[in-house]
Amino acid sequence: MPTRLDDMYAVMRGADLTPDGAPVSLGDVTLLAPLRPGKLLGVAKNYADHAAEINEGVPAEPSIFTKLVSSVTGPAGPIVRPHYTRQLDYEGELAVVVGRTLRDASPDDALAGIFGYTIINDVSARDLQAAEPQWTRAKGGDTFAPMGPWIVTVDEIPDPQDLAVRTWVNDELRQDGHTSQMITPVADLLSWCSANFRLEVGDVVATGTPAGVGRGFDPPRYLVPGDLVRIEVERIGVIAHEVR
Ligand code: MG
Repeated sequence: MPTRLDDMYAVMRGADLTPDGAPVSLGDVTLLAPLRPGKLLGVAKNYADHAAEINEGVPAEPSIFTKLVSSVTGPAGPIVRPHYTRQLDYEGELAVVVGRTLRDASPDDALAGIFGYTIINDVSARDLQAAEPQWTRAKGGDTFAPMGPWIVTVDEIPDPQDLAVRTWVNDELRQDGHTSQMITPVADLLSWCSANFRLEVGDVVATGTPAGVGRGFDPPRYLVPGDLVRIEVERIGVIAHEVR
């Protein structure tokens, strides 16, 4: 399997994609994350109802942060709660996989530069996020980015702003959002990023989370070992992982 997206393009352009060998049941394998991003970016407060639930305003410009690439894990996780937090939280999100170098790209060019879409849980340690100005620990812990289950290429998702995003914790629906609610839509988000720094093939941009995170409840409902998080993004699929 090609590990670089441009290799993947080459395969898709030229290769015979006829399946080879005996089919393997999904139930018999453990899927890994569909790629290891070059950069893994996130955007804070990109849904107004989420900003409201955490009692914060909507930023005037996209509030971009980076997650450590080493936080990426497979769609089945697990998420391992580190010893240093007792406020572990979930954020179900649509994630964009960049397919070509974008620098000062217009929104239209940014959209044309997308390879595909996947699902991410932007796991966050809220106590550290509140206490520390840099979110490296709060957002970058090992296993803090379950991703997958695969990349759906752009030809199958003509409009990234027309996708339901839902998160369940232990079968309770917690987030029931829609990408039409994004403050900065995908094309503008990538364009804005590319005006500040280069986006490269294989970079992943998590596009923000709708309302319903654990911190938004009164009292907050943080993840504890044994919890099962399930995130569904329309047209992509489902990722589900346990907290340990
Ligand atoms: Mg997020």
